[in-house]
Amino acid sequence: MVYDVIISGAGPSGSYLAYLLSKNGYSVLQLEEHKEIGKPVECTGLVSERVFGYVKSKSQINEVHGANVFFPNGKSIHISKGEKTIVMYRDEFDKDVSAMAIGAGSDTRINARVLDARANEDYAEVKYRENGEIKYQKASIVVGADGANSRIRQALNYERPRKLISTYQVDSSFHLEDQDDVNVFIGSENSNGFFGWAVPSGEITRIGVGVDHVTAIKYFKNINGKFERSQVLGINAGPIPINYLKKTYSNRSVLLGDAAGIVKPLSGGGIYTGIVSAKNAYAAINHAFKKNDFSEKSMIEYQKLWKREIGRELYIDSIIQRYFARISTNDEMLNKIYSTIDTGDIIKRINSLGDIDYPARVVFSILMRKPRLIKYFLFGG
Ligand SMILES: Cc1cc2nc3c(=O)[nH]c(=O)nc-3n(C[C@H](O)[C@H](O)[C@H](O)COP(=O)(O)OP(=O)(O)OC[C@H]3O[C@@H](n4cnc5c(N)ncnc54)[C@H](O)[C@@H]3O)c2cc1C
Repeated sequence: MVYDVIISGAGPSGSYLAYLLSKNGYSVLQLEEHKEIGKPVECTGLVSERVFGYVKSKSQINEVHGANVFFPNGKSIHISKGEKTIVMYRDEFDKDVSAMAIGAGSDTRINARVLDARANEDYAEVKYRENGEIKYQKASIVVGADGANSRIRQALNYERPRKLISTYQVDSSFHLEDQDDVNVFIGSENSNGFFGWAVPSGEITRIGVGVDHVTAIKYFKNINGKFERSQVLGINAGPIPINYLKKTYSNRSVLLGDAAGIVKPLSGGGIYTGIVSAKNAYAAINHAFKKNDFSEKSMIEYQKLWKREIGRELYIDSIIQRYFARISTNDEMLNKIYSTIDTGDIIKRINSLGDIDYPARVVFSILMRKPRLIKYFLFGG
């Protein structure tokens, strides 16, 4: 049998695409290297409600409505829009998306690791190992939804992601009294290039840090040290590619989600953007089948579609992230920023415009009101 589409990876991006394709009558082979969908978890599980507009899931643990951002001077600003952000069990969420795909008819295999892939004018082919046995399978299109270290990306000669944030996160026994706010830590003690976090997740707290080009553990220890007598219940870590690739399509293939670096640069969140990429991949693939044209020229439609929906936001956020990274260990500068924005007026502005999926608008609005901040960002002083 030749499948219409082979998808490497059963994270949210791959499974959501498998669901859309199968529901609409396409034959899908989905290959997942692990023996259990959703494991191991490498995620904080924080998403906007938008995600649940796509995926019906009961994986929610908690909902938060705001954030405390801690500056190097020990002071914090509290922001809250009133809208809820969901904290979820990420493994259960992945299982729910996968169940949607399987329920719609996807031939989803576990313990099936993609080893290689190729694409020519007539077909795409994947080599994989399923339960120890080497297999080959042809399809019209192959999709890389296999995460930050995508094998499909490598096999089909896509470029590598330009920026990978390293992370270190634990599930901690520490119980945060305030279950309504996420805590964000910035400054030289807390990160280099990104930020640290503590997310109230019911009985436990997810405490972690992201860094750029340095080792995370030192910063993690500083953040974890703020939570006395906490016991580590589990550790997870992984890279987050925060800049999308210049090209996310090629002859008979596309890359989704983390594999393509389609991730929010400011927060490292990639579940929503991965699902958006899957939705647009479905539209482009459907169109390619209708035209019976799987050439690079045809597959470019995928990139046009996802960029139309979130490209501008991700691009602007990546520029802001680059400037933030430059001053992320400049405590004096960060404290000046604190003094500039800790005014009722600015906080009100953040609260009215803030959106975890689309943060550019709020950053622009603050910069317009406080042009001094532009100088801090651009010149570090
Ligand atoms: C510490 C940490 C915290 C995070 N917190 C958040 C958060 O709070 N909110 C948020 O939105 N995002 C968060 N992210 C990012 C988020 O986890 C990813 O953006 C998201 O998982 C991307 O989904 P995906 O389906 O594209 O890729 P993945 O979820 O990585 O799925 C890829 C799948 O492919 C499989 N695979 C890999 N290689 C192969 C192969 N060769 N053959 C077969 N299968 C393969 C993997 O096993 C995996 O199941 C976090 C990331 C980290 C590291």
